[in-house]
Amino acid sequence: MTKPTTTNTGTPVESDDESLTAGTQGPILLHDHYLIEKLAQFNRERIPERIVHAKGAGAYGELVVTNDVSQYTKAKLFQPGARTESLVRFSTVAGEQGSPDTWRDPRGFAVKFYTEDGNYDLVGNNTPIFFIKDPIKFPDFIRSQKRLPGNGLRDHNMQWDFWTLRPETAHQVTWLMGDRGIPKTYRHMNGYGSHTYQWINAAGERFWVKYHFKTDQGIEFLTQVEADRIAGADADYHRKDLWEAIERGEFPSWTVYVQVMPVTEAEGYRFNPFDLTKVWSHKDYPLIEVGKWTLNRNPANYFVDIEQAAFEPSNVVPGIGFSPDKMLLGRVFAYADAHRYRIGTNYAQLPPNQARAAEVNSYSKEGAMRYHYNDPSVPVYAPNSFGGPHAEPERAPDGGIWDFDPVIVRAGYVPHAEDGDFTQAGTLVREVLNDDQRDRLVDNIVGHVLGGVREPVLSRVFEYWKNVDADLGKRVEEGVRAGLNGNGSTPPPAQG
Ligand code: NDP
Repeated sequence: MTKPTTTNTGTPVESDDESLTAGTQGPILLHDHYLIEKLAQFNRERIPERIVHAKGAGAYGELVVTNDVSQYTKAKLFQPGARTESLVRFSTVAGEQGSPDTWRDPRGFAVKFYTEDGNYDLVGNNTPIFFIKDPIKFPDFIRSQKRLPGNGLRDHNMQWDFWTLRPETAHQVTWLMGDRGIPKTYRHMNGYGSHTYQWINAAGERFWVKYHFKTDQGIEFLTQVEADRIAGADADYHRKDLWEAIERGEFPSWTVYVQVMPVTEAEGYRFNPFDLTKVWSHKDYPLIEVGKWTLNRNPANYFVDIEQAAFEPSNVVPGIGFSPDKMLLGRVFAYADAHRYRIGTNYAQLPPNQARAAEVNSYSKEGAMRYHYNDPSVPVYAPNSFGGPHAEPERAPDGGIWDFDPVIVRAGYVPHAEDGDFTQAGTLVREVLNDDQRDRLVDNIVGHVLGGVREPVLSRVFEYWKNVDADLGKRVEEGVRAGLNGNGSTPPPAQG
């Protein structure tokens, strides 16, 4: 038996076929709220498509670590035998939603790992390199590959104009114009992290790494003639191929490797190891096997699982970090920002983006479509005295720092001779304020504190003002205690 149609809020609807009208020929009525809901929902079905990588396909899978690379990283997902659930989204770059899968273009290879330390995203491509090496060129580059402003047409002249004016594109354009510029399917291409990343082992030693996902299906490509024919006959060729292979139980897999460079070798290496237009020669840095990555589950709902999937290079876990690769550092900002615009500020709550195993103890709150919230006993700010989450540097990824020039640190200001949190506040109280002003200051503080400050905060308030000025602090304490006693009340008990 079929289920009755309801509105979005669960009430049964009268008709899925006829709108409410004034008489059989009369106008449609505004109070047909189900019709309005249906049309309004339809108008809002799309979210903005990605500016780049708009057309794609994806699936869920698993990484199984088959080798021991623990000497290079403490990341739990790369420890021997570890199994980690994963999501991938393959894509073309310049084409819009609905564009043919077989246009000549690099392919996105964005992987999310749901690790017990939070999500780790490796947002790569099917090429180990890229067209440009500085993020300030990215909007220019992408615009030159998309459409002319006037007639809305794609334009090869614009593409070659940019490429030839920026010679660092040569390596990637060579790749793009070669066989690998049109993979036969998403299953028949390699994936590369492309950027140089940092791995950090349990002893705190840092290494530079590059990721390689080599297809176990073998590299296969389409000729231009074949690709042009398929573009017309079967525009979703790659999306369909991936879906059907997984439905058949023919799970595509990739063998995952890394190249590892000791940090001390970076400066003297013959290619700048942080330049995204260069590879590290396999002869210099041979591939080290890590594990097997297999896709074994199609999305249950394309829009929810793939269109709303948000991959972001800023998602790193302990044992993995960034490098001086400027493109990577630009992307670490840009991707999360793109998701906030495209999906909304609370995109991390959505099923494909939710951390699976990790505790999520964020102070994030509210914003459009928020439905996760902390227990009301958890304060909304840090630091706090009431047991809210606190940063644990020893557990955090620490991948945003490195110790060579220019050293990147998290540090406070360098204190100068007379610096101190209370020094100038004390000078103000003692040397600038006159007696009347000081009296009013005491009164204002006492009045504010009597407005509800409780232990253990209350004792800290007295200490705080004594640090500013001993006499002022004494007067504040006396005033507050007198106020509390005068009210016949005692300070309420500690909270938390
Ligand atoms: P190698 O001879 O050791 O590596 C060449 C690599 O090129 C192969 O291992 C293969 O890597 C890849 N390759 C093979 N056929 C093609 C093709 N038709 N189009 C693109 N890539 C192909 O030499 P080096 O490591 O010194 O690299 C030499 C050049 O090879 C580089 O300048 C770069 O253009 C290309 N290359 C290098 C890679 C690297 O990470 N060192 C990776 C890919 C290409 P794979 O199995 O990864 O496809």
